[in-house]
Amino acid sequence: MDRRHFLRGASALAGVTLAACGGNSIEDTTAAADAVDERETALGSRRTSTTGTTTTTAAGTTVARVIVIGGGMAGASVAKYLRLWGKGVEVTLIDRLPTYTSCIMSSLVLTGQRSMSSLLFNYDALRSKYGVKTVFEEVTAIDPVNAKVTLASGTVLSADRLVLAPGIAFDAVPGLTNPDAMPHAWKAGAQTSLLARQFAAMPSSGVAVLTIPKAPYRCPPGPYERACLLADWMKVYKPRAKLIVLDANPDFVTERDNFSSAFLGLHGQVIEYHNNIAIDHVDEASRTLFVAGGGSFRADVVNLIPTQRAPALLANAGLVATDPAGRFAKVNVLDYSSTVAGAGRVHVIGDSSATTQPKAGHIANQEAKVCADALSRIFAGGQPDPAPVTNSACFSTITMSKASWLHALFQYDAATGTMKAVPEATGASVGWNGNHFEDMGKWYKALMADTFA
Ligand SMILES: Cc1cc2nc3c(=O)[nH]c(=O)nc-3n(C[C@H](O)[C@H](O)[C@H](O)COP(=O)(O)OP(=O)(O)OC[C@H]3O[C@@H](n4cnc5c(N)ncnc54)[C@H](O)[C@@H]3O)c2cc1C
Repeated sequence: MDRRHFLRGASALAGVTLAACGGNSIEDTTAAADAVDERETALGSRRTSTTGTTTTTAAGTTVARVIVIGGGMAGASVAKYLRLWGKGVEVTLIDRLPTYTSCIMSSLVLTGQRSMSSLLFNYDALRSKYGVKTVFEEVTAIDPVNAKVTLASGTVLSADRLVLAPGIAFDAVPGLTNPDAMPHAWKAGAQTSLLARQFAAMPSSGVAVLTIPKAPYRCPPGPYERACLLADWMKVYKPRAKLIVLDANPDFVTERDNFSSAFLGLHGQVIEYHNNIAIDHVDEASRTLFVAGGGSFRADVVNLIPTQRAPALLANAGLVATDPAGRFAKVNVLDYSSTVAGAGRVHVIGDSSATTQPKAGHIANQEAKVCADALSRIFAGGQPDPAPVTNSACFSTITMSKASWLHALFQYDAATGTMKAVPEATGASVGWNGNHFEDMGKWYKALMADTFA
């Protein structure tokens, strides 16, 4: 499947697999990888080139060099598809870690249904199949005007374009000096295992609190689905326990019908839901949360998910507006280039960017493809596609064995310069069942293969 088909196919959203959702199918990706392998064999491998410097291969000149920062859902996808679609594009992917831990499915670690190791992905295939170069080091600064990147070691790398995909950062919570006292587990990793242990150790008649930050935050249905999953698990393993959900938003942020029915009906004996509750500060020693405007909640386990923003790396480079609402980097969604004057060679994709699309792994993968397509066209002397389309599928665990789903299709709206949801191709399942839970596993496998394999 070429990239025209990917972009056109996105409008044919009809099911739950990536192929049906308009992304490349696994078979298409493998075929494309084989094509790249053949081309590289013919040209002579570029894989030994020096990181960050323009190189001339035995058979041709590198047309452009791109540095991608962050090898998560957005960064790994853009690196792979730039190598698949760009002619002579050298791609260097930088992440602080050689192994990526997926947030998607990570709430199932809390209920013991998944292991942490099942969430791990590496970059071997991006290197060996697509010729992506990798550097594992912390990026400490970006020069957006000159497209330069400084690493923790002091090394400075430069490129023709930078693609930034470092995900999210959290606001500090007053009173919380040890984050492990009230883990968010909203970046999968050590905190996920820690929170699982805290829930396992909770008394049978204990009280847990889960907080939901004000939108926009990573994975809109995520906190609600985690609450449902935990409530179902408590019925079995902590039969007299209670889960208090403190939502900073005025109402369920998404999938209202399913979540309200699950919270108030199915899990009504376990979940106590409060909306419009923002956390002012906490006392970590007594695990007490104090609410803005008065009142407090004490619990045995606190899953505190703070308000989110783009990492400081972007703000320090002037890529995030300094007004209170400017939490994420504004971009032109035709190619995801920064809208900040002078920073047009910097592109921001995934959760760090401010768009009308949800902060989700599936959307991060889609934004990456639009960005890779646009850059490939620009490097070939053309213009970005004037009418991009993206889509997102999301499954929500309502119990430990049943799920609901939500999907959305977005089309570029030239009048507003934004991606607009297409109502007739956007919606949620009516209720939940075991088949959707099984489909969730297939969808996850396909999405992660499309990103890392
Ligand atoms: C519990 C939970 C469940 C979720 N479920 C779903 C779901 O069902 N469906 C869905 O679509 N989405 C889901 N999501 C959301 C999804 O995980 C995110 O939207 C997605 O990971 C965003 O991709 P990203 O590439 O922007 O960021 P990430 O995937 O977080 O990747 C960022 C990468 O950047 C690297 N990095 C950051 N800063 C630096 C630096 N300075 N130097 C070097 N490297 C750096 C990090 O190490 C990381 O590898 C879920 C999230 C959570 C928390």
